[in-house]
Amino acid sequence: MDDPVSQIAVIGGGPAGLRAAELLAEAGHAVTLFDQKATLGRKFLLAGRGGLNLTHSEPVAQFLKKYGPAEGLMARGLALFSPKDLSAWCHDLGFETFVGTSGRVFPKAKKATPLLRAWLKKLDRLGVRFAPRHRWTGWQGEVLSFHTGDGTALIQADATVIALGGASWPHLGSDGHWAEIFRAQGIALAPFRPANCGFVVEWSEIFRSRHAGEPLKPVTLSFAGRPQRGEIMITQNGLEGSLIYAFGAALRDAIETTGKALITLDLRPDTTTEALTARLARPRGSQSLANHLRKAGGLSPLTASLLREGARDLPSDPGALAARIKAMPLSLIATGPIARAISTSGGVRLDALSGDLMLKAKPGVFVIGEMLDWEAPTGGYLLQGCFSTAALAVQGIEVWLKRSAL
Ligand SMILES: Cc1cc2nc3c(=O)[nH]c(=O)nc-3n(C[C@H](O)[C@H](O)[C@H](O)COP(=O)(O)OP(=O)(O)OC[C@H]3O[C@@H](n4cnc5c(N)ncnc54)[C@H](O)[C@@H]3O)c2cc1C
Repeated sequence: MDDPVSQIAVIGGGPAGLRAAELLAEAGHAVTLFDQKATLGRKFLLAGRGGLNLTHSEPVAQFLKKYGPAEGLMARGLALFSPKDLSAWCHDLGFETFVGTSGRVFPKAKKATPLLRAWLKKLDRLGVRFAPRHRWTGWQGEVLSFHTGDGTALIQADATVIALGGASWPHLGSDGHWAEIFRAQGIALAPFRPANCGFVVEWSEIFRSRHAGEPLKPVTLSFAGRPQRGEIMITQNGLEGSLIYAFGAALRDAIETTGKALITLDLRPDTTTEALTARLARPRGSQSLANHLRKAGGLSPLTASLLREGARDLPSDPGALAARIKAMPLSLIATGPIARAISTSGGVRLDALSGDLMLKAKPGVFVIGEMLDWEAPTGGYLLQGCFSTAALAVQGIEVWLKRSAL
């Protein structure tokens, strides 16, 4: 006699839940995908607005370093579903990928909408059932409980995958309310904190009104002895952008401990201090300092304003002025709001889980994606983490189902 088909509930229709549903359906299980929203993958669609960065092409050992303390978890996940596998998956759905100059991997179409549409069609073909407008409210005994427009729905499953996301952009569905359910079950959680978020700088009114929305590039940011070159966006309230996100966790931790993070910016990364000193030593004549900085120092209007924003008492000595341009201090005093962060750190602590992501307190229940306590900078590491943790949990489910059938 054939094995009876296992009923699997996947709760959360973001990329992590969708990928788990896909793998489980491909393995022949009966999968129902629940989401509190009417449509799936809303944050995934938002991610596509700025160019969907699926993963990164750097060597895996380097890739894994981006996950910090969660490197071990991701090493297990990437062993099952690597960055190359993610590109191949995208290709199989009908979308070619390309590697950008920074090594980031994108679908050629750049947008998430056609990719999501093709993905959902595939899930439909695989027989995955969708249960939209089902808000998971916890367990009644071992049974899953959902709030729907028509009242409460109780669902019995042989195994459950929970993929409810972090706590940013709550109106798109990942509102972090699941944390109350987990806490009530005694499952250890780390507090949510913004990751890949903007940082607050006390700009003067004049600087803010003139320069918010302008990119600062190229620039080298140094923090805690680590320099990195890239691009920063000036915002109404401070700074954001990939270079800021690359330092995000360290900056956030410094602000939490000392109330601020002092970064230094090299506003002329392509020029040495000596060459800059020689240029600034040229006679200034009747020129204003701003004009001298622009003409002799080669500073753009933005970098010249920023230099004065960082320190109103600019030195007149060319050597000291050049040194300031090469290492301008700037104080970041707070993180931007969690609701606007690209991702969040915190969530289900990894020590509450088995190696294949089953909750120790709830056998048969697996947790994946951004609701786990890991973080990484932008660059494709977030989606890769979601896909790879889905692969890890699905492997765990197979083991769990076999064990419970004995
Ligand atoms: C502006 C922006 C740009 C981004 N760009 C990129 C990028 O280019 N590359 C990249 O790698 N990452 C990017 N990300 C991050 C990436 O989108 C997320 O890491 C990813 O979506 C997380 O996937 P997830 O499946 O874990 O959770 P989510 O995508 O957040 O999905 C969680 C799902 O769970 C549902 N849910 C929550 N609570 C309940 C409940 N109680 N009952 C039922 N359903 C519930 C939600 O409705 C939602 O559908 C970006 C994020 C943002 C905000």
